[in-house]
Amino acid sequence: MGLQAMEDLFAGRIRIENPSSKGPGGMKDSLTGLDRYEVFLKKLQKAIDEIGDKRIVVVYTDIRHFKYINDTYGYQVGDALLKDFVEEMTADNPYMICCSRVYSDNFIAANWMPDEVTSEAFRDFINKINQEREVRFREKYLNSRLQFCTGISTVDKNSRSHDAETVVSNANLARKVAKELENDSCVLFDNSMMEGIKREVEITSQVPRAIANHEFKVYYQPKIETDTLKLIGAEALVRWQKPDGTFVYPDQFIPFIERSGQVVDVDYYVYREAFRFLSERVAAGKRVVPVSLNVSRLHLNKMTILDYVQGLFDEYKLSPDLIEFELTESIYLDNTEKALQLVEGLHKMGTKVSMDDFGSGYSSLNLLSRLPIDIIKLDKVFLKDNNLQESDKIVISCMVDMAKKLQITSLCEGVETSEQSDYLKKVGCQIQQGYYFSRPIPQEQFEELLDQHQ
Ligand code: C2E
Ligand code: CA
Ligand code: CA
Repeated sequence: MGLQAMEDLFAGRIRIENPSSKGPGGMKDSLTGLDRYEVFLKKLQKAIDEIGDKRIVVVYTDIRHFKYINDTYGYQVGDALLKDFVEEMTADNPYMICCSRVYSDNFIAANWMPDEVTSEAFRDFINKINQEREVRFREKYLNSRLQFCTGISTVDKNSRSHDAETVVSNANLARKVAKELENDSCVLFDNSMMEGIKREVEITSQVPRAIANHEFKVYYQPKIETDTLKLIGAEALVRWQKPDGTFVYPDQFIPFIERSGQVVDVDYYVYREAFRFLSERVAAGKRVVPVSLNVSRLHLNKMTILDYVQGLFDEYKLSPDLIEFELTESIYLDNTEKALQLVEGLHKMGTKVSMDDFGSGYSSLNLLSRLPIDIIKLDKVFLKDNNLQESDKIVISCMVDMAKKLQITSLCEGVETSEQSDYLKKVGCQIQQGYYFSRPIPQEQFEELLDQHQ
Protein backbone atom coordinates (compact mmCIF):
# COMPACT_ATOMS: atom_id res chain seq x y z
CA MET A 1 0.00 0.00 0.00
CA GLY A 2 1.37 3.41 -0.93
CA LEU A 3 1.29 6.61 1.11
CA GLN A 4 -1.77 7.86 -0.72
CA ALA A 5 -3.76 4.76 0.15
CA MET A 6 -2.76 5.04 3.78
CA GLU A 7 -3.70 8.69 3.82
CA ASP A 8 -7.10 7.87 2.41
CA LEU A 9 -7.56 5.35 5.13
CA PHE A 10 -6.76 7.81 7.86
CA ALA A 11 -8.76 10.62 6.30
CA GLY A 12 -12.08 8.81 6.49
CA ARG A 13 -14.84 9.40 8.97
CA ILE A 14 -14.99 8.65 12.63
CA ARG A 15 -16.31 5.33 13.80
CA ILE A 16 -16.63 5.15 17.51
CA GLU A 17 -18.49 2.05 18.53
CA ASN A 18 -20.10 3.43 21.61
CA PRO A 19 -19.79 7.16 22.09
CA SER A 20 -22.05 7.22 25.11
CA SER A 21 -20.00 6.74 28.19
CA LYS A 22 -20.60 4.19 30.83
CA GLY A 23 -19.13 6.59 33.38
CA PRO A 24 -15.84 6.49 35.22
CA GLY A 25 -16.03 2.79 35.94
CA GLY A 26 -17.19 1.86 32.43
CA MET A 27 -15.35 0.49 29.45
CA LYS A 28 -15.16 3.80 27.57
CA ASP A 29 -13.48 7.11 28.15
CA SER A 30 -16.32 9.56 28.71
CA LEU A 31 -14.82 12.43 26.71
CA THR A 32 -13.62 10.60 23.62
CA GLY A 33 -15.70 7.42 23.58
CA LEU A 34 -12.48 5.44 23.20
CA ASP A 35 -11.70 2.27 25.08
CA ARG A 36 -10.36 2.84 28.53
CA TYR A 37 -6.65 2.18 28.78
CA GLU A 38 -7.06 -1.12 30.70
CA VAL A 39 -9.40 -2.36 27.99
CA PHE A 40 -6.93 -1.26 25.33
CA LEU A 41 -4.13 -3.22 26.99
CA LYS A 42 -6.26 -6.36 27.09
CA LYS A 43 -7.18 -6.07 23.41
CA LEU A 44 -3.59 -5.41 22.43
CA GLN A 45 -2.35 -8.36 24.48
CA LYS A 46 -4.90 -10.61 22.79
CA ALA A 47 -3.74 -9.44 19.36
CA ILE A 48 -0.10 -10.02 20.28
CA ASP A 49 -0.90 -13.49 21.56
CA GLU A 50 -2.41 -14.29 18.19
CA ILE A 51 0.23 -12.51 16.12
CA GLY A 52 1.36 -15.41 13.91
CA ASP A 53 3.29 -14.00 10.96
CA LYS A 54 1.70 -10.59 11.20
CA ARG A 55 3.10 -7.34 12.63
CA ILE A 56 1.50 -4.86 14.99
CA VAL A 57 2.44 -1.21 15.20
CA VAL A 58 1.70 0.75 18.34
CA VAL A 59 1.46 4.52 17.95
CA TYR A 60 1.75 6.77 21.01
CA THR A 61 0.96 10.43 20.41
CA ASP A 62 1.01 13.40 22.70
CA ILE A 63 -0.14 16.93 21.93
CA ARG A 64 2.50 19.39 22.97
CA HIS A 65 1.43 22.69 24.46
CA PHE A 66 -2.13 21.46 24.70
CA LYS A 67 -2.29 23.00 28.14
CA TYR A 68 -2.25 26.46 26.57
CA ILE A 69 -5.46 25.70 24.74
CA ASN A 70 -7.17 24.90 28.03
CA ASP A 71 -5.56 27.86 29.74
CA THR A 72 -6.28 30.32 26.96
CA TYR A 73 -9.60 29.25 25.51
CA GLY A 74 -11.07 27.15 28.31
CA TYR A 75 -11.79 23.47 28.71
CA GLN A 76 -14.63 23.37 26.20
CA VAL A 77 -12.28 24.29 23.40
CA GLY A 78 -9.65 21.92 24.79
CA ASP A 79 -12.19 19.10 24.78
CA ALA A 80 -13.27 19.93 21.25
CA LEU A 81 -9.65 19.73 20.11
CA LEU A 82 -9.20 16.33 21.72
CA LYS A 83 -12.37 15.05 20.08
CA ASP A 84 -11.20 16.43 16.76
CA PHE A 85 -7.95 14.59 17.13
CA VAL A 86 -9.70 11.35 18.06
CA GLU A 87 -11.97 11.72 15.08
CA GLU A 88 -8.96 11.77 12.79
CA MET A 89 -7.14 9.04 14.63
CA THR A 90 -10.03 6.61 14.53
CA ALA A 91 -11.11 7.42 11.00
CA ASP A 92 -12.39 4.33 9.21
CA ASN A 93 -9.34 2.10 9.34
CA PRO A 94 -9.50 -1.64 8.67
CA TYR A 95 -6.09 -2.12 10.27
CA MET A 96 -7.10 -0.68 13.64
CA ILE A 97 -6.95 -3.09 16.56
CA CYS A 98 -7.86 -0.63 19.30
CA CYS A 99 -7.11 2.85 20.54
CA SER A 100 -7.36 4.71 23.79
CA ARG A 101 -6.56 7.87 25.70
CA VAL A 102 -3.85 7.02 28.19
CA TYR A 103 -4.47 10.27 30.06
CA SER A 104 -5.06 13.93 29.32
CA ASP A 105 -3.64 14.54 25.81
CA ASN A 106 -1.77 11.23 25.47
CA PHE A 107 -3.24 8.79 22.97
CA ILE A 108 -2.36 5.29 21.94
CA ALA A 109 -3.42 3.26 18.94
CA ALA A 110 -2.57 -0.27 17.84
CA ASN A 111 -2.81 -1.28 14.20
CA TRP A 112 -2.04 -4.34 12.14
CA MET A 113 0.79 -3.33 9.87
CA PRO A 114 0.07 -3.86 6.16
CA ASP A 115 2.59 -6.45 4.87
CA GLU A 116 4.22 -4.23 2.31
CA VAL A 117 4.81 -1.25 4.62
CA THR A 118 8.15 -1.06 6.41
CA SER A 119 8.42 0.40 9.91
CA GLU A 120 10.49 3.26 8.50
CA ALA A 121 7.89 4.05 5.84
CA PHE A 122 5.20 4.03 8.50
CA ARG A 123 7.22 6.40 10.65
CA ASP A 124 7.67 8.79 7.71
CA PHE A 125 3.98 8.56 7.01
CA ILE A 126 3.06 9.51 10.59
CA ASN A 127 5.58 12.29 10.46
CA LYS A 128 3.84 13.71 7.42
CA ILE A 129 0.39 13.27 8.98
CA ASN A 130 1.54 15.06 12.13
CA GLN A 131 2.95 17.97 10.19
CA GLU A 132 -0.16 18.40 8.11
CA ARG A 133 -2.35 18.08 11.18
CA GLU A 134 -0.25 20.67 12.95
CA VAL A 135 -0.92 23.20 10.23
CA ARG A 136 -4.67 22.51 10.32
CA PHE A 137 -4.95 22.51 14.11
CA ARG A 138 -2.80 25.58 14.56
CA GLU A 139 -5.10 27.44 12.24
CA LYS A 140 -8.29 26.14 13.79
CA TYR A 141 -7.21 26.55 17.41
CA LEU A 142 -5.01 29.60 16.95
CA ASN A 143 -2.00 28.28 18.73
CA SER A 144 1.27 28.45 16.89
CA ARG A 145 3.05 26.18 19.34
CA LEU A 146 0.72 23.20 19.12
CA GLN A 147 2.70 20.11 18.12
CA PHE A 148 2.09 16.41 17.74
CA CYS A 149 4.79 14.09 19.02
CA THR A 150 4.62 10.42 18.22
CA GLY A 151 6.58 7.35 19.16
CA ILE A 152 5.99 4.03 17.49
CA SER A 153 7.02 0.51 18.34
CA THR A 154 6.39 -2.65 16.39
CA VAL A 155 5.88 -6.24 17.44
CA ASP A 156 6.26 -9.45 15.48
CA LYS A 157 6.87 -13.04 16.47
CA ASN A 158 10.62 -12.38 16.82
CA SER A 159 10.32 -9.33 19.07
CA ARG A 160 12.15 -9.23 22.40
CA SER A 161 8.95 -8.70 24.32
CA HIS A 162 5.42 -9.84 23.69
CA ASP A 163 4.03 -8.00 26.66
CA ALA A 164 1.49 -5.30 25.73
CA GLU A 165 2.60 -2.93 28.47
CA THR A 166 6.24 -3.16 27.40
CA VAL A 167 5.33 -2.48 23.78
CA VAL A 168 3.37 0.60 24.85
CA SER A 169 6.16 1.79 27.10
CA ASN A 170 8.62 1.37 24.21
CA ALA A 171 6.41 3.54 22.01
CA ASN A 172 6.17 6.05 24.85
CA LEU A 173 9.94 6.10 25.17
CA ALA A 174 10.26 6.77 21.42
CA ARG A 175 7.72 9.60 21.84
CA LYS A 176 9.91 11.20 24.49
CA VAL A 177 12.82 11.04 22.07
CA ALA A 178 10.60 12.62 19.40
CA LYS A 179 9.84 15.45 21.80
CA GLU A 180 13.51 16.42 21.86
CA LEU A 181 13.76 16.61 18.06
CA GLU A 182 13.34 19.80 16.16
CA ASN A 183 12.37 18.69 12.70
CA ASP A 184 10.77 15.29 13.07
CA SER A 185 7.68 14.55 15.08
CA CYS A 186 7.74 10.76 14.95
CA VAL A 187 10.39 8.34 16.18
CA LEU A 188 10.63 4.59 15.84
CA PHE A 189 11.61 2.71 19.00
CA ASP A 190 14.78 0.71 18.90
CA ASN A 191 16.50 -1.24 21.62
CA SER A 192 19.39 1.20 21.87
CA MET A 193 16.96 3.63 23.48
CA MET A 194 17.00 1.35 26.49
CA GLU A 195 20.70 2.18 26.76
CA GLY A 196 19.71 5.84 27.12
CA ILE A 197 17.38 4.90 29.95
CA LYS A 198 20.11 2.91 31.64
CA ARG A 199 22.43 5.90 31.37
CA GLU A 200 19.76 8.12 32.86
CA VAL A 201 19.27 5.79 35.81
CA GLU A 202 23.02 5.50 36.28
CA ILE A 203 23.50 9.28 36.28
CA THR A 204 20.59 10.13 38.54
CA SER A 205 21.53 7.45 41.04
CA GLN A 206 25.05 8.93 41.33
CA VAL A 207 23.99 12.54 41.88
CA PRO A 208 23.47 12.45 45.68
CA ARG A 209 26.94 10.97 46.14
CA ALA A 210 28.38 13.50 43.71
CA ILE A 211 26.91 16.37 45.71
CA ALA A 212 28.14 14.93 49.01
CA ASN A 213 31.65 14.35 47.56
CA HIS A 214 31.89 17.81 45.97
CA GLU A 215 32.24 16.31 42.50
CA PHE A 216 30.38 19.27 41.00
CA LYS A 217 32.72 22.11 40.13
CA VAL A 218 31.77 25.62 39.22
CA TYR A 219 33.47 27.04 36.14
CA TYR A 220 33.31 30.72 35.27
CA GLN A 221 33.02 32.15 31.78
CA PRO A 222 34.06 35.81 31.51
CA LYS A 223 31.74 38.47 30.16
CA ILE A 224 33.40 41.31 28.30
CA GLU A 225 32.22 44.87 27.91
CA THR A 226 32.17 45.62 24.19
CA ASP A 227 33.33 49.23 24.37
CA THR A 228 36.25 48.77 26.74
CA LEU A 229 37.01 45.04 26.33
CA LYS A 230 37.08 44.90 30.13
CA LEU A 231 36.14 41.83 32.14
CA ILE A 232 32.89 42.92 33.75
CA GLY A 233 31.22 39.71 34.85
CA ALA A 234 31.02 35.96 34.55
CA GLU A 235 28.53 33.16 34.16
CA ALA A 236 28.75 30.22 36.55
CA LEU A 237 28.58 26.92 34.66
CA VAL A 238 28.54 23.58 36.38
CA ARG A 239 30.91 20.72 35.56
CA TRP A 240 30.83 17.25 37.03
CA GLN A 241 34.23 15.77 37.66
CA LYS A 242 33.93 12.06 38.39
CA PRO A 243 36.28 10.43 40.94
CA ASP A 244 38.27 8.96 38.02
CA GLY A 245 38.96 12.50 36.78
CA THR A 246 36.67 12.43 33.74
CA PHE A 247 34.29 15.32 33.13
CA VAL A 248 30.60 15.13 32.47
CA TYR A 249 29.22 18.24 30.77
CA PRO A 250 25.88 19.84 31.62
CA ASP A 251 24.17 18.77 28.42
CA GLN A 252 24.93 15.16 29.37
CA PHE A 253 23.28 15.31 32.78
CA ILE A 254 21.10 18.41 33.23
CA PRO A 255 18.21 17.00 31.13
CA PHE A 256 18.22 13.84 33.30
CA ILE A 257 18.38 15.63 36.61
CA GLU A 258 15.67 18.03 35.47
CA ARG A 259 13.42 15.04 35.00
CA SER A 260 14.37 13.56 38.36
CA GLY A 261 14.07 16.90 40.15
CA GLN A 262 17.66 16.73 41.41
CA VAL A 263 18.62 19.80 39.41
CA VAL A 264 17.26 21.94 42.24
CA ASP A 265 19.90 20.58 44.61
CA VAL A 266 22.64 20.89 42.03
CA ASP A 267 21.67 24.49 41.30
CA TYR A 268 21.67 25.30 45.01
CA TYR A 269 25.11 23.75 45.28
CA VAL A 270 26.35 25.94 42.42
CA TYR A 271 24.74 29.05 43.94
CA ARG A 272 26.35 28.40 47.31
CA GLU A 273 29.77 27.86 45.72
CA ALA A 274 29.48 31.13 43.80
CA PHE A 275 28.36 33.04 46.90
CA ARG A 276 31.21 31.57 48.90
CA PHE A 277 33.74 32.38 46.19
CA LEU A 278 32.62 36.00 45.88
CA SER A 279 32.33 36.63 49.60
CA GLU A 280 35.82 35.25 50.24
CA ARG A 281 37.28 37.62 47.66
CA VAL A 282 35.31 40.54 49.04
CA ALA A 283 36.55 39.73 52.54
CA ALA A 284 40.14 39.60 51.23
CA GLY A 285 39.70 43.00 49.59
CA LYS A 286 40.17 41.51 46.13
CA ARG A 287 38.44 42.52 42.93
CA VAL A 288 35.06 40.93 42.20
CA VAL A 289 32.61 41.09 39.28
CA PRO A 290 28.93 40.11 39.17
CA VAL A 291 28.35 36.40 38.61
CA SER A 292 25.24 35.12 36.89
CA LEU A 293 23.59 31.87 37.93
CA ASN A 294 21.44 29.61 35.75
CA VAL A 295 17.93 28.87 36.94
CA SER A 296 16.40 25.55 35.92
CA ARG A 297 12.76 25.57 34.87
CA LEU A 298 12.11 23.16 37.70
CA HIS A 299 12.38 25.92 40.30
CA LEU A 300 9.03 27.22 39.15
CA ASN A 301 7.34 24.10 40.49
CA LYS A 302 8.60 24.50 44.01
CA MET A 303 9.46 28.19 44.26
CA THR A 304 11.75 27.52 47.23
CA ILE A 305 14.49 29.29 45.29
CA LEU A 306 13.61 32.73 46.66
CA ASP A 307 13.99 31.59 50.27
CA TYR A 308 17.15 29.74 49.43
CA VAL A 309 18.75 32.73 47.74
CA GLN A 310 17.65 35.06 50.54
CA GLY A 311 19.29 32.61 52.97
CA LEU A 312 22.54 32.84 50.99
CA PHE A 313 22.45 36.63 51.03
CA ASP A 314 21.89 36.57 54.81
CA GLU A 315 24.67 34.07 55.35
CA TYR A 316 27.35 35.50 53.05
CA LYS A 317 26.41 39.20 53.41
CA LEU A 318 27.00 39.69 49.69
CA SER A 319 25.88 42.83 47.90
CA PRO A 320 22.94 41.95 45.61
CA ASP A 321 24.54 43.66 42.63
CA LEU A 322 27.15 40.89 42.57
CA ILE A 323 24.59 38.22 41.68
CA GLU A 324 22.42 37.86 38.60
CA PHE A 325 20.03 35.14 37.53
CA GLU A 326 19.56 33.71 34.05
CA LEU A 327 16.15 32.36 33.14
CA THR A 328 15.77 30.83 29.71
CA GLU A 329 13.34 32.28 27.28
CA SER A 330 11.39 29.02 27.34
CA ILE A 331 10.80 29.30 31.10
CA TYR A 332 9.04 32.60 30.54
CA LEU A 333 6.99 31.12 27.74
CA ASP A 334 6.00 27.95 29.55
CA ASN A 335 4.70 29.63 32.64
CA THR A 336 4.69 33.38 32.34
CA GLU A 337 2.83 34.03 35.60
CA LYS A 338 5.18 31.99 37.77
CA ALA A 339 8.23 33.32 35.92
CA LEU A 340 6.98 36.83 36.60
CA GLN A 341 6.60 36.07 40.30
CA LEU A 342 10.12 34.72 40.37
CA VAL A 343 11.57 37.75 38.58
CA GLU A 344 9.75 40.07 40.96
CA GLY A 345 11.03 38.13 43.97
CA LEU A 346 14.60 38.28 42.68
CA HIS A 347 14.27 41.98 41.93
CA LYS A 348 13.05 42.62 45.48
CA MET A 349 16.33 41.18 46.71
CA GLY A 350 18.12 43.62 44.42
CA THR A 351 19.54 41.17 41.86
CA LYS A 352 19.36 41.55 38.11
CA VAL A 353 17.61 39.00 35.92
CA SER A 354 18.40 38.07 32.34
CA MET A 355 16.51 36.25 29.63
CA ASP A 356 18.82 33.47 28.50
CA ASP A 357 18.94 31.81 25.07
CA PHE A 358 16.87 34.59 23.55
CA GLY A 359 16.01 33.69 19.98
CA SER A 360 16.65 29.96 20.38
CA GLY A 361 13.04 28.94 20.33
CA TYR A 362 9.73 30.57 19.73
CA SER A 363 10.85 33.99 20.79
CA SER A 364 7.99 36.06 21.79
CA LEU A 365 8.99 39.60 21.13
CA ASN A 366 6.10 41.08 23.04
CA LEU A 367 7.25 39.09 26.06
CA LEU A 368 10.25 41.37 26.18
CA SER A 369 8.16 44.46 26.74
CA ARG A 370 5.91 42.72 29.27
CA LEU A 371 8.62 41.26 31.47
CA PRO A 372 10.70 43.38 33.78
CA ILE A 373 14.02 41.85 32.78
CA ASP A 374 17.33 43.66 32.83
CA ILE A 375 19.44 41.83 30.26
CA ILE A 376 18.78 39.75 27.18
CA LYS A 377 21.29 37.13 26.23
CA LEU A 378 21.10 36.61 22.50
CA ASP A 379 21.48 32.92 21.83
CA LYS A 380 24.53 31.53 20.12
CA VAL A 381 22.40 30.28 17.21
CA PHE A 382 22.76 33.71 15.65
CA LEU A 383 26.51 33.22 15.48
CA LYS A 384 26.45 29.71 14.12
CA ASP A 385 28.63 30.67 11.16
CA ASN A 386 32.02 32.26 11.52
CA ASN A 387 31.04 34.64 8.79
CA LEU A 388 27.77 36.15 9.85
CA GLN A 389 24.88 35.57 7.47
CA GLU A 390 23.17 38.71 6.25
CA SER A 391 19.85 37.55 7.74
CA ASP A 392 21.41 36.88 11.15
CA LYS A 393 23.02 40.30 11.05
CA ILE A 394 19.66 41.93 10.51
CA VAL A 395 18.05 39.98 13.33
CA ILE A 396 20.89 40.74 15.73
CA SER A 397 20.92 44.44 15.01
CA CYS A 398 17.13 44.67 15.32
CA MET A 399 17.12 42.85 18.63
CA VAL A 400 19.92 44.98 20.03
CA ASP A 401 18.03 48.06 18.88
CA MET A 402 14.80 46.88 20.40
CA ALA A 403 16.49 46.04 23.69
CA LYS A 404 18.04 49.49 23.77
CA LYS A 405 14.65 51.13 23.28
CA LEU A 406 13.23 49.03 26.10
CA GLN A 407 16.24 49.97 28.24
CA ILE A 408 17.35 46.38 28.46
CA THR A 409 21.07 45.55 28.31
CA SER A 410 22.01 43.28 25.42
CA LEU A 411 24.58 40.52 25.68
CA CYS A 412 25.53 38.15 22.91
CA GLU A 413 26.84 34.70 23.75
CA GLY A 414 28.81 32.24 21.68
CA VAL A 415 31.19 34.84 20.24
CA GLU A 416 33.97 32.86 18.60
CA THR A 417 35.65 35.18 16.08
CA SER A 418 36.92 38.73 15.85
CA GLU A 419 34.54 39.35 12.92
CA GLN A 420 31.57 38.46 15.09
CA SER A 421 32.87 40.57 17.92
CA ASP A 422 33.43 43.55 15.62
CA TYR A 423 29.96 43.28 14.20
CA LEU A 424 28.45 43.23 17.70
CA LYS A 425 30.40 46.35 18.51
CA LYS A 426 29.16 48.02 15.35
CA VAL A 427 25.51 47.41 16.21
CA GLY A 428 25.93 48.45 19.82
CA CYS A 429 25.61 45.14 21.67
CA GLN A 430 26.94 46.03 25.10
CA ILE A 431 28.34 42.78 26.46
CA GLN A 432 29.93 39.73 24.84
CA GLN A 433 30.65 36.22 26.00
CA GLY A 434 32.25 33.37 24.11
CA TYR A 435 35.29 31.26 23.29
CA TYR A 436 36.82 34.21 21.42
CA PHE A 437 37.45 35.80 24.81
CA SER A 438 37.58 32.76 27.06
CA ARG A 439 36.10 29.33 27.57
CA PRO A 440 34.49 28.60 30.94
CA ILE A 441 37.46 28.17 33.30
CA PRO A 442 37.98 26.77 36.81
CA GLN A 443 37.75 29.12 39.76
CA GLU A 444 41.53 29.36 40.31
CA GLN A 445 42.13 30.37 36.71
CA PHE A 446 39.27 32.86 36.83
CA GLU A 447 40.78 34.39 39.96
CA GLU A 448 44.05 34.91 38.11
CA LEU A 449 42.14 36.75 35.39
CA LEU A 450 40.41 38.93 37.97
CA ASP A 451 43.70 39.74 39.65
CA GLN A 452 45.35 40.62 36.32
CA HIS A 453 42.48 42.91 35.33
CA GLN A 454 42.54 45.00 38.48
P1 C2E B 1 23.81 28.20 28.67
O1 C2E B 1 23.26 28.77 29.93
O2 C2E B 1 23.29 28.76 27.39
O3 C2E B 1 25.36 28.36 28.78
C1 C2E B 1 26.19 28.68 27.70
C2 C2E B 1 26.80 27.46 27.11
O4 C2E B 1 27.49 27.82 25.92
C3 C2E B 1 27.85 26.81 28.01
O5 C2E B 1 27.82 25.41 27.79
C4 C2E B 1 29.14 27.38 27.45
O6 C2E B 1 30.25 26.59 27.73
C5 C2E B 1 28.82 27.41 25.99
N1 C2E B 1 29.62 28.40 25.28
C6 C2E B 1 30.16 29.54 25.76
N2 C2E B 1 30.80 30.21 24.82
C7 C2E B 1 30.67 29.50 23.68
C8 C2E B 1 31.14 29.70 22.32
O7 C2E B 1 31.80 30.65 21.98
N3 C2E B 1 30.78 28.75 21.43
C9 C2E B 1 30.05 27.66 21.77
N4 C2E B 1 29.75 26.78 20.83
N5 C2E B 1 29.61 27.45 23.02
C10 C2E B 1 29.92 28.37 23.96
P2 C2E B 1 27.84 24.41 29.00
O8 C2E B 1 28.72 24.91 30.09
O9 C2E B 1 28.14 23.06 28.43
O10 C2E B 1 26.36 24.45 29.53
C11 C2E B 1 25.31 24.02 28.75
C12 C2E B 1 24.01 24.39 29.36
O11 C2E B 1 23.79 23.69 30.57
C13 C2E B 1 23.89 25.85 29.73
O12 C2E B 1 23.58 26.62 28.61
C14 C2E B 1 22.80 25.81 30.78
O13 C2E B 1 21.55 25.78 30.16
C15 C2E B 1 23.04 24.50 31.44
N6 C2E B 1 23.78 24.72 32.70
C16 C2E B 1 25.12 24.88 32.90
N7 C2E B 1 25.36 25.07 34.21
C17 C2E B 1 24.17 25.05 34.84
C18 C2E B 1 23.77 25.18 36.22
O14 C2E B 1 24.56 25.38 37.15
N8 C2E B 1 22.43 25.09 36.48
C19 C2E B 1 21.52 24.88 35.49
N9 C2E B 1 20.22 24.81 35.84
N10 C2E B 1 21.86 24.76 34.21
C20 C2E B 1 23.18 24.83 33.89
CA1 CA C 1 23.00 30.63 30.83
CA1 CA D 1 22.49 30.68 26.96
